[in-house]
Amino acid sequence: MVKDVKQILKEAESSLKDKFEQIDDICFINQKKVLNAFIEFRVSTQCFYGTTGYGYDDVGRDTLAKVYAKVFGGEKAIVSTMISCGTHAITTALYGLLRCGDIMLSVTGLPYDTIHETLFGEGNNSLEDIGVVYKQIDLTENSDFKYDEIYNFVKENKPKMVYLQRSRGYSSRKAISPYLMKGLFERIKQLSPNTFIVVDNCYGEFVDDIEPTDVGADVIMGSLIKNPGGGLAPTGGYIVGTEKAIDLISSRYTNPSLKLELGSYEMGYRMFYQGLFLSPHVVAQALKGCFLVGKIMEDKGYKIIPSNDEKPQDIIKSVVFNTEEELIKFVQLVQTVSPVDGYVLPMPWDMPGYKDKVIMAAGTFVSGASIEFSCDSPIRKPYIAYFQGGLTYEHIKIFAEKLIEMY
Ligand SMILES: *Cc1c(COP(=O)(O)O)cnc(C)c1O
Repeated sequence: MVKDVKQILKEAESSLKDKFEQIDDICFINQKKVLNAFIEFRVSTQCFYGTTGYGYDDVGRDTLAKVYAKVFGGEKAIVSTMISCGTHAITTALYGLLRCGDIMLSVTGLPYDTIHETLFGEGNNSLEDIGVVYKQIDLTENSDFKYDEIYNFVKENKPKMVYLQRSRGYSSRKAISPYLMKGLFERIKQLSPNTFIVVDNCYGEFVDDIEPTDVGADVIMGSLIKNPGGGLAPTGGYIVGTEKAIDLISSRYTNPSLKLELGSYEMGYRMFYQGLFLSPHVVAQALKGCFLVGKIMEDKGYKIIPSNDEKPQDIIKSVVFNTEEELIKFVQLVQTVSPVDGYVLPMPWDMPGYKDKVIMAAGTFVSGASIEFSCDSPIRKPYIAYFQGGLTYEHIKIFAEKLIEMY
């Protein structure tokens, strides 16, 4: 019996050899990018020290922002422990760029759950409350852009912002490659040069060898307890983009007179640097884990999204189950192989920012960090378990072993 499991794992791994090689190639490019930025901006031990109070001349904070801007192909960045999560980074960027009467056009359908209250909440200081007009064009069945519809809208309305979400969120569409964004962005800029192109980059960092900012996005945002924190960053978010866009956003992030001049963090910044340095590798580990678990579940007859034939565009894989019970069982199995709280049994609960109940396996060192091996799912049809992350491939392989034994 034990030998069978071993054999199944071995065969699954050899069938994925080419995929793993592609992942390694991208990882190598990104590792170089990160290393070069560290050297160019003279990262030194001094950058790791914390500051207190206003944090004037905080070298660690300022240098980290320069490194991020360079790595992600932007001109300027806000990287901050005062940004509490990805949602906070995204909304800071939206409020920084949008004014009363402006149009925000989402071209990847409905944005991630936690952004909804920001877009159209009532009487809560939402963008709609302050007079921003939200419009949306869905993706095609095939998760491609509806180019004609987008171009016509942009030409006629010259929206202040075109918004994209790279990763899938809790949906079954595909994540979007920066290479696919390139043509779209060029045409949008031709039709309306002053439109800001803004991309929710959560879960997408270092999955490909370029980022949306490399192909013309004005702004990208993400969470430091996902990919770019490399599993070490304890909190925070980033916003990278053009000088013009980041200047506007920094007035909202602090205020128009302070912008990026202050913000302290007494604990120091080593984990943010070290995490970014490790991030390309950790992302690669997570991606390999996605393929392995995907292969095992596919062989057991379950539908996985994206299929293993597709090039991944984020670090999430999902398994479609027939019943709520099956879904819950899978999520709970993830928890049983967690290094932290491995003994607890997760249950569906009402999580802040989400409409449906959500079940989460997150036995992580950094609370809620989904760059660590974790799994979550809203309890709604279709019953899809979304799993992601993994600091080491071997950790996810242990989970794969359990799956083989259990299913
Ligand atoms: C995780 C995520 C966010 C932000 O979530 P936080 O929990 O606030 O960090 C936004 N968009 C997408 C697509 C995400 O996956």
